[in-house]
Amino acid sequence: MIVSINPATGSEIARYDVHTPAEIDTILDRAARVQARWRTAPIAERTALLRVIAARLRERKPDLAQLIVAEMGKPIGEAEAEVEKCAINCDFYAGAAPAMLADTKVANVANTELMFDPLGVVLAIMPWNYPLWQVFRFVAPALAAGNGVILKHAGNVTGCALAIGEVIAEAGCPAGLFGLVITEAEQVEAIIADPRIAAVTLTGSTQVGMIVAAQAGRTLKKQVLELGGSDPFVVLADADLDHAARMAVTARFTNAGQSCVNAKRFIVEAAVHDRFVDCFLDHAGRLTMGDPLDRATGLGPMARANLRSAIDDQVRRSVAGGARLLRGGAVPDRPGFHYPPTLLDGVTPGMAAFDEETFGPAAAIVRARDTEDAIALANRTAFGLGASLWTANLDRARTLVRRIDAGAVFVNAMVASDPRVPFGGIKQSGYGRELGEHGLREFTNMKTVRID
Ligand code: NAP
Repeated sequence: MIVSINPATGSEIARYDVHTPAEIDTILDRAARVQARWRTAPIAERTALLRVIAARLRERKPDLAQLIVAEMGKPIGEAEAEVEKCAINCDFYAGAAPAMLADTKVANVANTELMFDPLGVVLAIMPWNYPLWQVFRFVAPALAAGNGVILKHAGNVTGCALAIGEVIAEAGCPAGLFGLVITEAEQVEAIIADPRIAAVTLTGSTQVGMIVAAQAGRTLKKQVLELGGSDPFVVLADADLDHAARMAVTARFTNAGQSCVNAKRFIVEAAVHDRFVDCFLDHAGRLTMGDPLDRATGLGPMARANLRSAIDDQVRRSVAGGARLLRGGAVPDRPGFHYPPTLLDGVTPGMAAFDEETFGPAAAIVRARDTEDAIALANRTAFGLGASLWTANLDRARTLVRRIDAGAVFVNAMVASDPRVPFGGIKQSGYGRELGEHGLREFTNMKTVRID
C-alpha cells in the first residue's frame, strides 16, 4: 500500500494498492509488444503524438497543477509553470526530433551513414520534486525516438503518475506503449533485470543511483543517471551584488530548495562578503512561507516529513560545527512540513552544509579569500551538476568556466534546464545527458551503415 500525504497539512490524500508481480508482467509484456510496432511508425506519426500530448497538458494545466501542489507542496504558480514546461518540451521534440533522428552521411567516408534506431522499452525511475517535468523531459524524446516507456514514479506522487498516464492515453498513445508500475522500491531490481527492459534512466539521489547502476550493470543495460548536486554560486568582487543576491534567493528557495540544480553553496569573495550577505538577507526576508495554494506564497512546505528532518539535522550539525545561523533554522509550530528560509554564514569544508547535498530551503554562505580560493572551494565537492558564476568581467569568466567541474556553468544567470540544451552531471551527480539532441540520442542505437 502506498500512501500520498498533503505536505501543507500533513493529512492523507489517497492510498494506492501496489501492482502484483502478475500485473507488472502484463504491463511489461504489452509495452514490449506495442513498442515493436511503434519503432516502425513514421517519425511524423510519433511526433504528432507529442503535439497532442502538449495540447492536452495545456488543457489540463489547472487540475494537473492542483495535483502537484496537493502531493508535493510547491507554490501553485511554480506548479503551473512546470506543466507548461512539459508542454514546451513536447512541442520542442515534435519539431526538432525528425532532423535529430535523420540518417546522417559521414563526411569523407564513402557510402557510409549513421541511423538512429530505438533501444526498446526503457524503465524510468523518477523523483517527486518535479513530478511531471522529470517524467516528460525523458518521455517526449523517448517516444519520438521510437522507444516504449515503463514509469516507476516516487511513491508520494502516485496521483501525478496516474495523471501522466491519463494525459498520454487521452492524447492517443498506442495503449501499453507507456506503462506505469505502482510498486515499492525493493521490487525494481526484478524489473531492471527483466529481458523486456532494454535500458534504465534514473533521476534521484546519488545513493539510489549507485544501487540502480550496479543492478543494471549485472545485465549490462545502459543507464542515464541524473543524481544529486551541491551547486556552487560563486560571487566575485566585481559582481552586481544586489542582482546576484536577488537571483540567489530564487536559485536557492525555488521549489522549497528541493531541486537538484538549486544553488546550495554561496561562495563569496571576502572583499564583498558582508555586503552580499546583507543583500541576501534583505531579499530572503521578502519570501513568504505558507499555503502553496495562496499566490502570495513564495515558499511552500517541504514534500515529506523525513526530508524536513534531514535539512533541519544538517542545519543543526553545521551550527554545531561552527556555522553562524543568520535566520531561520527552526521547525515552525504549524501543521504540515514547513521549514523557513534559512541562511548559514561562515560555512567551511567539513560542515554538513558544505559537504552534503542540502535538499531544502537552507543556504550555506562560504567566504573565499580571492578568486583562486573561490574556484577551489567550488570544486571541493563530490558532486558536479551545475554551477553559476557572478562577475562583470566576461573575458575572465570564460577562462574560469573551463576550470569549474560541472555539467553546466551559467555566468550571471541561475542554472536551469532548457529542452533545447543538454542537461546532466559529472562525478557523483551521475552520467549521461537529458534534453537537446544529446538527450534524444541517449536511448538510441547509433547504427553505422555502409551500403556499397
Ligand atoms: P530517491 O530516494 O533516490 O528516489 C528517486 C526514485 O528512486 C523514486 O522513484 C524512488 O522510489 C526510487 N528508489 C528509491 N530507492 C530505490 C531502489 N533501491 N531501487 C530502485 N529505485 C529506488 O530520491 P528522492 O529523494 O526522491 O529525490 C531527491 C534526489 O533526486 C536528490 O538527490 C536530487 O538532487 C535528485 N534529483 C536529481 C535531478 C537531476 O536531474 N540530476 C533532478 C531531480 C532530483 P520511492 O519513492 O518508492 O522510494
